[in-house]
Amino acid sequence: MGKMVRCLSADGSVLCCAVDTTDIVSEIHRIHGTSATASAAAGRLATAASIMGGLMKSENDRLTLRINGGGSLGTLTCVADYMGNVKCCMDNPMADLPLNSQGKLDVAGIVGTDGYLAVIKDMGLKEPYIGQIPIVSGEIAMDITQYYAVSEQIPTVCALGVLVDKDLSIKKAGGYLIQLVPPVNESAIDYIEENIKDMQSVTAMLEAGLTPEEIAMKGLKGLDGAVLDEWETVYACDCSRERTEQVLIAIGEKELNKLASEKEITEVCCHFCDKKYSFTSAELIDLAKRAKK
Ligand SMILES: [Zn+2]
Repeated sequence: MGKMVRCLSADGSVLCCAVDTTDIVSEIHRIHGTSATASAAAGRLATAASIMGGLMKSENDRLTLRINGGGSLGTLTCVADYMGNVKCCMDNPMADLPLNSQGKLDVAGIVGTDGYLAVIKDMGLKEPYIGQIPIVSGEIAMDITQYYAVSEQIPTVCALGVLVDKDLSIKKAGGYLIQLVPPVNESAIDYIEENIKDMQSVTAMLEAGLTPEEIAMKGLKGLDGAVLDEWETVYACDCSRERTEQVLIAIGEKELNKLASEKEITEVCCHFCDKKYSFTSAELIDLAKRAKK
């Protein structure tokens, strides 16, 4: 279970959200069999999606982050609901690289830097909101900061971290986001800049035993922060047999009949949670009829 906390400065001008996603990233590793570097990349993006999802307002709101910079990981997608529950998938979870020149997992290397970060907010309107920016670093946190600066004009600090153990299990994972709430209080910026300088990496703080609340309060030091709300977040997939049927119907009558003629049982696997849904050829023929309508 991950823990999300949102804290607000006394004057309401600075919001800081922090989350411990160790369990969520462990689940990503378990489901997808990710390499150390892929765990770091997917874990960072999932942590960002969790926080950004948690900033959405309504029960049916969905936030998707998608990044592909031409690296060996392929497209990495994370989807979060308004509670920050998140699911994730990627093309090549086994992608890996040697440590980079700073001795760190080479997230930018497997994500790549030649491509885009897309932020899709589905708020139940006719069309979802889509913001897309060119990747600036591929390390993800800086790309999220850039997205907020360019697409939403909100000054934001984002830090994300995943610490992978030698046996590839996830030791710690989490992140925080500090955001200025308009009208911007200039003096708050000075505090935040100082606070960030004093803060260790997210995983170092989690390893030292700090809770998300304590991390958020470090971000708001000097600004008299208080907890706004806190709750638990999990890795959650909302796939179902009905949704899988809809996906099958979307591939069309001809393709469904072809599948039905090829195999007695067709298995469809959810990319996000690996759950398998079996369809007999008779069921596929039925779906093909629905596709025709
Ligand atoms: Zn699923």
